[in-house]
Amino acid sequence: MDDLYQEDLLDHYKHPHNFGTLTDPSCRIQEQNSSCGDAMTLDVSVDGEGEQAIITDVKFVGNGCAISMAAASKLTDHIKGKTLAELKTIDFEFMQNLIGTVISPGRVKCLTLSAKALMQVLNSTLSSK
Ligand code: ZN
Repeated sequence: MDDLYQEDLLDHYKHPHNFGTLTDPSCRIQEQNSSCGDAMTLDVSVDGEGEQAIITDVKFVGNGCAISMAAASKLTDHIKGKTLAELKTIDFEFMQNLIGTVISPGRVKCLTLSAKALMQVLNSTLSSK
């Protein structure tokens, strides 16, 4: 792993952005990665309808390895203010670019844990309308 990226990831791991819970989230999703022991709860507030709805606020809490927590920190930064349509395409490749480093196959689930939670938010928000 590149030193520069590693430092950036460790910084997000030690001081995660958007860490906490929302008092009245539109959606609360819990996700776990049993292969590593990562667990997180994602709280999202959504305003609007359908795919044009906007993520107005997001917070997460969790326990896990540096990759899972740093990815959640960076992803929650990214999604704030975005429409659901803009977030539909988030996938493994996007997450890899987001954290800026190549992940070994054994850590893929760590990297995508927060993206998996986000997809559940999208699914439940879009299907409830
Ligand atoms: Zn992990």
